[in-house]
Amino acid sequence: MTTRLLIVGPQGSGKGTQGQRVAEAYGVPVVSTGDIFRANIKGGTELGLKVKAITDAGNLVPDDVTGEIVSDRLSQSDAIERGFLLDGYPRNAAQVAYLDDFLASHSAALDAVILLDVPRAESVARITGRAEIEGRSDDTEDAVAHRLDIYESETAPIAETYAQRGVLDRIDGVGTLEQVTERIFAALDARSLIR
Ligand code: AMP
Repeated sequence: MTTRLLIVGPQGSGKGTQGQRVAEAYGVPVVSTGDIFRANIKGGTELGLKVKAITDAGNLVPDDVTGEIVSDRLSQSDAIERGFLLDGYPRNAAQVAYLDDFLASHSAALDAVILLDVPRAESVARITGRAEIEGRSDDTEDAVAHRLDIYESETAPIAETYAQRGVLDRIDGVGTLEQVTERIFAALDARSLIR
């Protein structure tokens, strides 16, 4: 059984937490480009040095760099055999095309795309709260506003592409963690995806 999922949502939508819960239920690894970049920055790797200033400013890391990281990770045996839950990739139309090509070359496709809908004011409030707890260096007020602008202009439109393919589940992301998780599971169950 292979399950290939994508979770999309603005920063502060809870997609990291929900993504982990869904991935656990389906027994697939979470593939988060943001986590991969943060681990490299923390470890002081060549990649980390290359992307630190970009991520701190809230800009997108170039597509070729990000694409290579994703195809490397998705080529590992766990992702090939069991599938995956992508979090934070793809984030624009070019990345959707790159992922399409990668999956097609493995005779695969996404089974479902979960879109977490959260109003901008709520996202800002949640990120501001997280900044105090985690102290992420890209959670300054300017960087947060910039990331949400990029989300609205570049990432939100990819939902339409997946909606046209019939794989999009639009989920109301406002509520308790449990309520939102239940909504996601209900949508995935309706697609007969087996947990
Ligand atoms: P995230 O944790 O998903 O919000 O990602 C943190 C930062 O990593 C983003 O603000 C970007 O700078 C970078 N990043 C993560 N995923 C991508 C992606 N798919 N394309 C470009 N940059 C990305």
